[in-house]
Amino acid sequence: MTYFQYQNKELYAEQVPLQTLAEQFGTPCYVYSKAALTDAYQTFSKAFKETAHQICYAVKANSNIAVLQLLAQLGAGFDVVSEGELKRVLKAGGDPTKVVFSGIGKTESEINFGLSSHVGCFNIESEAELIRIAHIATTRQHIAPISFRVNPDVNPKTHPYIATGLKENKFGIPITQAIDLYKQAHQHPYLHIKGIACHIGSQLLELKPIEAAISHLLELHDQLNTLNIPIDHIDVGGGLGVRYRDEHPPSIEAYVETLISLLKQRQLCICLEPGRAIAANAGLLLTRADYLKPTSDKNFLIIDAAMNDLIRPSLYQAWQPILPCKEPQTQASQEWDIVGPVCETGDFLGKARSLNVKQGDLLAIMSAGAYGFTMSSNYNSRNRAAEVMVDQDKTYLIRARESFDDQIRLETLLPEQAII
Ligand SMILES: *Cc1c(COP(=O)(O)O)cnc(C)c1O
Repeated sequence: MTYFQYQNKELYAEQVPLQTLAEQFGTPCYVYSKAALTDAYQTFSKAFKETAHQICYAVKANSNIAVLQLLAQLGAGFDVVSEGELKRVLKAGGDPTKVVFSGIGKTESEINFGLSSHVGCFNIESEAELIRIAHIATTRQHIAPISFRVNPDVNPKTHPYIATGLKENKFGIPITQAIDLYKQAHQHPYLHIKGIACHIGSQLLELKPIEAAISHLLELHDQLNTLNIPIDHIDVGGGLGVRYRDEHPPSIEAYVETLISLLKQRQLCICLEPGRAIAANAGLLLTRADYLKPTSDKNFLIIDAAMNDLIRPSLYQAWQPILPCKEPQTQASQEWDIVGPVCETGDFLGKARSLNVKQGDLLAIMSAGAYGFTMSSNYNSRNRAAEVMVDQDKTYLIRARESFDDQIRLETLLPEQAII
């Protein structure tokens, strides 16, 4: 089932032509398919069959509250990395007891808020954080549910900026130190050990590194068993890759089957934190071609979306498909570098793309549902894009386009006496 497809040479989101969305909501505009999000989530949950599991959707991939609301309705838990993300989950009706609170720099206020909200688990990433959480829990006389996120030192074979489970990365606790911290936590009256966690990276295209990480977690579990330190769950993190171009990521089913086969005998709840694999291919960025700028060296196609709207190409050299919203009558004769209006040479959305395009045409930058809007900014004082959810033939504006007033709402001019 595809959620974005051509019908009579026009590109649709579910049953709505993108042309209609552009007329109604303007461009640039993020467009999400409710069916695509639903199907991706349910593919994960169905693959587990009877095996005890908890899917904690990684909020940072796409944190629009309507997206979170949909996933909460489907039964998802959530992986959050800040107080803001936790507040979004609560606003969206998510169950706090199904929340894992990750992140290497949780502030005192975030820990307090997490405790007050009754999150299911804090994934601790350092000894210093353990001390802080233990102190806060003791002061409040409120038992904190915790796991340690260990760093298994495996190479996830992904872009270096999204590799997180190598010993030189800032994430997790070296697995050799973990046992010591488990002993400390086990003795503490206000800490309750829930499990072991890891997250080795994002856009993983092979199962081998995940299997290697899990085997390290299982060794740790064996050690905990010898020490009579019980746990309830193993959290394998997120990271399952998606197809942007010609990648062959493992299917969700194959991934889940691997988790089950490695973990089932342990009688532990299997937690996972997928973000990209749920959201990436459930969204696109709708944009308009504003100028054609052929030069003797290169042809530039200047669109109304830019790196501030979608930074993946600039930041990770990521490749995402760029499709015309109306299929042209004739084949492309030219290659274009598709660039935004931002004053940076790194502001491109795609390079050397064959497109038959004219000024004013609509284009869809595909696979933009994850790490798209959430990484957007106001750079160059551009208003951030609108977000729309499509459900069959219905459309819902789930985030209005920003206005200039939104941008400067928190800014103040200096008082008169300060500028003479
Ligand atoms: C980013 C992140 C995820 C999600 O990663 P995806 O590649 O989007 O699945 C899960 N867990 C943690 C701790 C993360 O930081």
